[in-house]
Amino acid sequence: MQIADGTVVAMDYTLKDDEGTLIDQSQPGQPLAYLHGHKNIIPGLEAALAGKTSGDKVEVRIAPEDGYGEPNPALEQVVPRDRFQGVESLEEGMQFQASTDQGPISVRVVKVEDDNVTVDGNHPLAGKHLNFDVTVQEVRAATEEEIAHGHVHQESGCCGGGEENKEGGSCGCS
Ligand code: ZN
Repeated sequence: MQIADGTVVAMDYTLKDDEGTLIDQSQPGQPLAYLHGHKNIIPGLEAALAGKTSGDKVEVRIAPEDGYGEPNPALEQVVPRDRFQGVESLEEGMQFQASTDQGPISVRVVKVEDDNVTVDGNHPLAGKHLNFDVTVQEVRAATEEEIAHGHVHQESGCCGGGEENKEGGSCGCS
């Protein structure tokens, strides 16, 4: 079966940046499964996989606009250090939840100065080229329920693996 909208794809993958640094990978024997055609993975990778079948290997370099987008300078902000009361040693790279008008977002500390802390709410991979090395392990037709929910159901049931529930998608499969 070929990868198309409405198929479930299981793949082994590694993701590296342009320097060759490993950013992410599937664990051996635990391929990542996703529902194709529902924006569950980044657009550039979904496009590269369309039409492939099990056993195919795909190497693709994805530009930021087809990945996590370009960094938005407005998401980088300097905030007073006293906003971080209770945090003993504030260090670059620490992650916090910040509440915004658009709801909670995850921010990273990028700079710590005496009284000021610079935080960045951009995705850590924004602005980066993404080098994927993928082996397609399995392609199957999605179930009607999976298509209705817009995500893969694991053998163990709904939304396995600690996936976040999509907004409004209260998964009725208990
Ligand atoms: Zn579900």
